[in-house]
Amino acid sequence: MANKYKILIVEDESSILSFIKATLEANEYQAITADTCKNGLMMYASHRPDLVILDLGLPDMDGTEFIKEVRRNSITPILVLSARTEENDKVSALDLGANDYITKPFGTAELLARVRAALRSKRNSESSGTTGGEFTLNDMIINYDKRSVFVGNQEIKLTQTEYNILALLSFHSGKVLTYAFIINQIWGYVDGTSTKKLQVNMSNLRKKLGSKPGENKYIINELGVGYRMQDEF
Ligand code: CA
Repeated sequence: MANKYKILIVEDESSILSFIKATLEANEYQAITADTCKNGLMMYASHRPDLVILDLGLPDMDGTEFIKEVRRNSITPILVLSARTEENDKVSALDLGANDYITKPFGTAELLARVRAALRSKRNSESSGTTGGEFTLNDMIINYDKRSVFVGNQEIKLTQTEYNILALLSFHSGKVLTYAFIINQIWGYVDGTSTKKLQVNMSNLRKKLGSKPGENKYIINELGVGYRMQDEF
């Protein structure tokens, strides 16, 4: 297959590294690897991959150092692997500019879905401006010009804030947006009441879109991390 995507895997656990490499290669991706943060940065600089899959716990430096370095001048998607139970590590990785995370252990299907979503976000950001003024997800349509939202044939009446949150999530569909990122984008500042304000708006928004409590229709609640709009049904 021509035009193979090149994916850099930075991971020090050899069993996980070879699992990811084999899975990617079996699916027509080109995989290159590094087992330390330093080697990862060298491979990144010389190969310019389309996507990076990055373990956070590396022997020489924390994986977040890799994100900081790459994000100085590049928007290459970064998918973080986290074995840690602390939500804080994922959140700080996302806030530093990682696109998404996978929690270990994970299977082939989840890995490939996340890889596809991250590569799609790369294509979308490269072609931004040429895409139409509409976003469609299953039976939901957002019209950005009219700021209107339809589910099925029915128009959904949203407040300005609810609409802004929905539009923001749709611009980044497939990607987890952290609470802090959403709050900053919507209100421009974070204070003691921000998280509560976001949760209230989010719960009203999801209700209006027809989601029942605990159901992940259109928008997935990533507990302790943030929210993600689905990008495939
Ligand atoms: Ca590790």
